[in-house]
Amino acid sequence: MTVKVEVAVRGPEAYSLARNVITEMESVGVWPTPLNFELWLHYLGDPESPLGREIRRLLNDNVVISDETSEMLAAEFLPRGRLSEEIRDAGAVLDRELTSIATAIAKAHKTQADYGVTLADASETMDGAQDPSSLKDLVGGLSHATRRVRRETAILEKRLESSNKEIARLQTHLEQVRREAMTDALTNLANRKAFDERLEELCAAEDASPLTLAILDIDHFKRFNDTWGHQTGDQVLRYVATVMSRVCPGDRFATRFGGEEFAIIFPGEKAGSVTAVLETIRHEVASRSLRRRSTNDDLGTVTISAGFAQRLPGEAAAALLERADAALYASKRAGRNRVTGASTLEKAA
Ligand code: GH3
Ligand code: MG
Ligand code: MG
Repeated sequence: MTVKVEVAVRGPEAYSLARNVITEMESVGVWPTPLNFELWLHYLGDPESPLGREIRRLLNDNVVISDETSEMLAAEFLPRGRLSEEIRDAGAVLDRELTSIATAIAKAHKTQADYGVTLADASETMDGAQDPSSLKDLVGGLSHATRRVRRETAILEKRLESSNKEIARLQTHLEQVRREAMTDALTNLANRKAFDERLEELCAAEDASPLTLAILDIDHFKRFNDTWGHQTGDQVLRYVATVMSRVCPGDRFATRFGGEEFAIIFPGEKAGSVTAVLETIRHEVASRSLRRRSTNDDLGTVTISAGFAQRLPGEAAAALLERADAALYASKRAGRNRVTGASTLEKAA
């Protein structure tokens, strides 16, 4: 939740904002589901936030806000809230497990200490013991105390075993949450956050091997959406992502950069192989005649433009990104449906 919305939902205008949300949802034909309420609250509470701008764009494009669209908006723009909720839950479980282990350990510790006292007493009593019956009582007492210790130890072991299981389950769950937070819900590619992290990581490692970054952008995609609708546009985004994934095995890192833009990080690769990969993607996308799944309408073809840059020694991630973006822009200016390398800015297609 942005600070602005956080303040708005607890401020003097809170209830009028909530009422506006309902009125607004009704006027644009959006169902008042809890998720839509949350999205619209963010939108109206902070219209200039990235989510606010995206909802306005969708409404301007006359996009029908389906449940799927809402889920996608939430995944893209409300991930932190959801993620921190999951992390809070995981924290609570860990807390519970640790408290219960601490209690079991304290109890076992006390039993051990009591046992030590029992043994010390026994040794004293034994020194003064004369008759067999008092020795028998002594042994009886000792064996009772030993049984108690054994029982406590068994309880502690069981407790530790079940905590281990719970913690392992939690680790798997958190790993899944982390993966989801790094994945673009529409295309299943890594998302912008994952991209930023990976690029920073690679640029920070002072590694002498080459590193090349490419940005790809669908040409005239606004026109495509205007003609065929946003949902069909989404199918195209998925299709382009599939083509990219196919040519990016191993270390190549294909991501949805945002909107209709994609990026690929090529660790250890230079212009030659990168150009070949980008040309394969460009060619495959441009040569496929697309069909709308639901109606089988012929949608024609879409093309993509790409730009890439090889990292200069010591170059920061932002500067590399800027050069790749400039190369993409050069592809657009030169007529689209082509690949341009930043070093030479020569047309490679
Ligand atoms: P250019 O060739 O210069 O890139 O033109 P363009 O129309 O592709 O570029 P512009 O930046 O003007 O518009 C980008 C369009 O991408 C606008 C929007 O409709 C579309 N778009 C962005 N994100 C999504 C999305 O998640 N789904 C769909 N269907 N369309 C999207
Ligand atoms: Mg575009
Ligand atoms: Mg674009």
